[in-house]
Amino acid sequence: MAQIIDGKAIAAQIKDELKEKTAKLKEKGVAIALAVIQVGNDPASSVYVRNKKNACAYIGIQSLSYELPEETSQEELLALIQKLNADSQVNGILVQLPVPKHIDEDVIIRAISPEKDVDGFHPASVGAMSIGQKGFLSCTPAGVIQLLKRSGIEIEGKECVVLGRSNIVGKPMAMLLLRENGTVTITHSRTRNLKEVTKRADILVAALGKPKFITEDYVKEGAVVIDVGIHRQEDGKLCGDVDFEQVVDKVHAITPVPGGVGPMTIAMLMNNCVESAQRTV
Ligand code: NAP
Repeated sequence: MAQIIDGKAIAAQIKDELKEKTAKLKEKGVAIALAVIQVGNDPASSVYVRNKKNACAYIGIQSLSYELPEETSQEELLALIQKLNADSQVNGILVQLPVPKHIDEDVIIRAISPEKDVDGFHPASVGAMSIGQKGFLSCTPAGVIQLLKRSGIEIEGKECVVLGRSNIVGKPMAMLLLRENGTVTITHSRTRNLKEVTKRADILVAALGKPKFITEDYVKEGAVVIDVGIHRQEDGKLCGDVDFEQVVDKVHAITPVPGGVGPMTIAMLMNNCVESAQRTV
């Protein structure tokens, strides 16, 4: 019987630990504030923003909310980011992505001070992670590492295969697995003989954005399968990149969707905010 990795419970545990750390920082007179910027009112983004604010409230982090109209110019957004970069009361700055099309996402990401880049998307943060220096880790991949560690799954020496090479999931995921001494392979849409590669994996991380793509013939018996994908199906239910029902009986451990990787992303964002404040002490 496969171990079902409970991301909801692990994320709750991390948030409780952060709540304690935040209370201790408060005793020392250190308050934590996260600036959350949303441009426009995309419904999915609004849900993510609300969840992030709720997590802040639970932990004791002040969330400073900036809800800007869709027509906000890039210059106006950059001016706000510069103001927040200079504000010593602000520990983290988060711009909810995607931003409207007239705004260049890369310019916005680069404008956020690496000291406050709690999403871990700034090139300086990515570079620091790649060479093992201190910096904020990209939240979803960092969450996957926590899921593995806190579920007692060893990464060192294991064959790890990451499906997907995006800047926010696939690439940082591979880097973090490497940092944990995994033997890492990254696959993508041009990979040949994909099934042969994925079947080598002791730990398979699916982040390719294709609903139920990973069926049991992609997976080695006894593997650990981490499903980063999130998709809304026609019946309204969520599913991942992995066909959970097909794969579950073959694997040692697996994350469900929902309730696997999803809740970890916000928990790791909160972790980065607390770390940012700790650096000021
Ligand atoms: P993305 O930017 O669309 O990247 C998808 C990657 O998968 C690309 O590198 C692509 O290869 C690769 N790919 C696509 N089709 C493939 C195929 N048939 N075989 C092998 N590789 C293939 O997606 P993303 O932003 O990384 O997100 C991936 C999934 O994770 C999505 O479902 C997203 O909703 C979800 N997600 C979840 C969280 C969370 O908090 N749980 C956070 C972020 C994302 P090429 O590079 O060659 O095109």
